[in-house]
Amino acid sequence: MRVLVVEDELKVANFIKKGLLENNFTVDIAPDGEEGLFLAQNENYDLIVLDLLLPKLDGLELLKKLRKEGKDTPVICLTAKGGISDKIEGFNAGTDDYLVKPFRFAELLARIRAILKRSKRTPEGAELKYAGLILNRHTRHAERNGRIIILTSKEYSILELLMLNKEQVVTRTMITETAWDYNFDLMSNVVDVHIRRLREKIDRREKKSLIHTVRGMGYVLKETSI
Ligand code: CA
Repeated sequence: MRVLVVEDELKVANFIKKGLLENNFTVDIAPDGEEGLFLAQNENYDLIVLDLLLPKLDGLELLKKLRKEGKDTPVICLTAKGGISDKIEGFNAGTDDYLVKPFRFAELLARIRAILKRSKRTPEGAELKYAGLILNRHTRHAERNGRIIILTSKEYSILELLMLNKEQVVTRTMITETAWDYNFDLMSNVVDVHIRRLREKIDRREKKSLIHTVRGMGYVLKETSI
């Protein structure tokens, strides 16, 4: 995940960068609005952390320009001002969230993760479908041949990944990167445990299995085994 931090206060910029690097993000810093706009226009970021009071080009102006050009990169605005009118102005300009300084890094990280989760869902539509299996990305429930299946959040993440990559091998690394954070112990068998439970829910009582193990590689969602 690649994040652009547009912030002129070096101390704040470095504090955010350090925290994000520790959480396996890639980070670029722009020290003023003009450079921030240039990078946001020309690079592909998953998210932008945008301070509002910036030299050269104001944060709100940057955001308006970006949205006018049709760039829909998610944005979290940072500001020392916490007034309700500023918030409304920010949301009107197209920000996804708002954080008032000073803030704790954990708070920023939680909001970044929430936005990334939301934004990942939108371009693909509300439902993923494959061979009688439907995954509703709003309710986070699955349905197979009319049977509603309630999923835990980990099961949901794994199934979503499998459906987005249907008929292709999804490696264990892809699964752990999607469903767990960096503290995850790669040696543990927790992925297998979740796959087993997911399989129970999806394939049990069905004639055809959809989730298959690909020996030494990972898993695949497919109507017939490969
Ligand atoms: Ca500033």
